[in-house]
Amino acid sequence: ESVVNRIAAGEVIQRPSSAVKELVENSIDAGASTVSVAVKDGGLKLIQVSDDGHGIRFEDLPILCERHTTSKLSAYEDLQTIKSMGFRGEALASMTYVGHVTVTTITEGQLHGYRVSYRDGVMENDPKPCAAVKGTQVMVENLFYNMAARRKTLQNSNDDYPKIVDFISRFAVHHINVNFSCRKHGANRADVHSASTSSRLDAIRNVYGVSVVRDLMEIEVSDENAVDGIFTMDGFISNANYVAKKTTMILFINDRLVDCTSLKRAIEFVYSAILPQASKPFIYMSINLPREHVDVNIHPTKKETVNSSALAQANTQKEKGTDVSTATGA
Ligand code: ADP
Ligand code: MG
Repeated sequence: ESVVNRIAAGEVIQRPSSAVKELVENSIDAGASTVSVAVKDGGLKLIQVSDDGHGIRFEDLPILCERHTTSKLSAYEDLQTIKSMGFRGEALASMTYVGHVTVTTITEGQLHGYRVSYRDGVMENDPKPCAAVKGTQVMVENLFYNMAARRKTLQNSNDDYPKIVDFISRFAVHHINVNFSCRKHGANRADVHSASTSSRLDAIRNVYGVSVVRDLMEIEVSDENAVDGIFTMDGFISNANYVAKKTTMILFINDRLVDCTSLKRAIEFVYSAILPQASKPFIYMSINLPREHVDVNIHPTKKETVNSSALAQANTQKEKGTDVSTATGA
């Protein structure tokens, strides 16, 4: 059974950057206004995500890392929400099957916090009282210690740190009211350091630099006549002056960071048709649409989003044994 769990966990957490993404999303879900990430060895040795969110109650600690533990559904009618937002209580559990997880947390009004370590879904010891300021710190050590081949691939490939920086940069552009930082463990200088702001352009300037911001145009679309509800899209796209060899696409759908290769290709195509002299675009786009039109569960990493009809197709193919997901973790 433990091998099965490990393999399943390795699907949910494919690389250190996927663990970081899940941890940061949890911090944001916990209402954090500051999220700090520190990483050793591209995340293989250590990933540490600290937040000042609402913390985890003592009585929830024993089941925290069991699969399907989630505090993010309260009623049966939330099933649609779980389906669409990927609230499945699998991320933390998965990390305990492929790494050593230690949680330190304190909830509002408590005099001290608790620290507890997990392995294979269960607590290794009773939670120990400890000093804590506010919120939660999750530490993942020795990721993939029990998956030799995965470890080797990751060690050989260029380390995952740039991807981690990339994720945090995107979060910082979308969640502008949160302070983000990301650094190599022990380093004085943070590689992403974004102070909360009320202006999206400030956030982009913070992370991607002033030269990018200079060449951006605002985009805004809203369609209340869209089938089944409201569709809105807002963001920024670079103009003809912008110069870059690679497309930067920051896409949030219903506040979840996702990849959508087909949309990216479509935008690149139109962009180069309209601005043939221009380089590859920079795009930040936040799309909101009725949840039943989004399904982020196409892949365990929840990063590639497709619409329901594509999902139906994908499911048929899955039954035939084809892995259709193209989530890159990039
Ligand atoms: P999910 O996010 O899908 O609910 P996770 O495995 O990511 O599942 O997390 C399980 C649960 O642990 C969450 O529902 C939440 O209640 C709690 N949790 C995880 N991280 C944090 C955090 N940083 N702050 C507060 N609660 C957290
Ligand atoms: Mg989560």
